[in-house]
Amino acid sequence: MTDTYALYAVRYATRDARRADHFIGGDPHDAPMPMDYFVWAAIGAERSFVIDTGFTEETARKRGRTYLRSPVEGLRLIGLEADAVEEVVLTHLHYDHVGGFHLFPAARFHLQEPEMSYATGRYMAHPKLSHSFEVEDVCGMVRLNFARRVRFHDGDAEIAPGVTLHRIGGHSAGLQCVRVATRRGPVVIASDVTHFYENMESGRPFTTAFHVGDMLEGFDRLRELAPTPKHIVPGHDPEVMRRYPAVSPELEGVAVRLDVEPDA
Ligand SMILES: [Zn+2]
Repeated sequence: MTDTYALYAVRYATRDARRADHFIGGDPHDAPMPMDYFVWAAIGAERSFVIDTGFTEETARKRGRTYLRSPVEGLRLIGLEADAVEEVVLTHLHYDHVGGFHLFPAARFHLQEPEMSYATGRYMAHPKLSHSFEVEDVCGMVRLNFARRVRFHDGDAEIAPGVTLHRIGGHSAGLQCVRVATRRGPVVIASDVTHFYENMESGRPFTTAFHVGDMLEGFDRLRELAPTPKHIVPGHDPEVMRRYPAVSPELEGVAVRLDVEPDA
């Protein structure tokens, strides 16, 4: 029998935004469309995985984001101590996914090799693309690699029974999503393969893009990887906090269970 995991989304930051901010080509409706920031955790009987590490309070200030709590504090609320975590999956190296890497001193980091090439290569000379990265995060990953703490993958990989990585690209050259076996079947943490449910559902990619064709194909790939659309969890949608049950009444709006069927 495959191992199954308890799967969580932990919300650590938010920002106000408009609908037109989130779709290439804009949107005919001028209305608010706020964006949430999450880290995810898969907790199993034998081992646990943290997926992405969030950003720091300093970066939140610099970029005008509303910082709700440190991801470390958020993970503690669901029973994980960051300094004991041994396995971290980085879906990609954008500031809001990698910026807390130094808070996991015992971890090995799973990363797609094309993402490291992208973040250290020629395209970072273009502010339009480098804007989503913090140079100190990228340097930090280079240092971690010298310390033998980065495990590179190139394409699909199974990193434990029931936990697989799938390179999609598009939004960032080496973006990967993570599929985790749970008691309701495999659940796909899409991360930024689809920021909102609506990007995927309407076939309209998010505005931060490296390769638009790969982004569009990524929506199809998510649907191939998941048994139903209800098994796909977008990377930044506040709806995630509404559709899934809170871990406990005190954690309403902070942490939800993704291994339980969503409402919608
Ligand atoms: Zn991103």
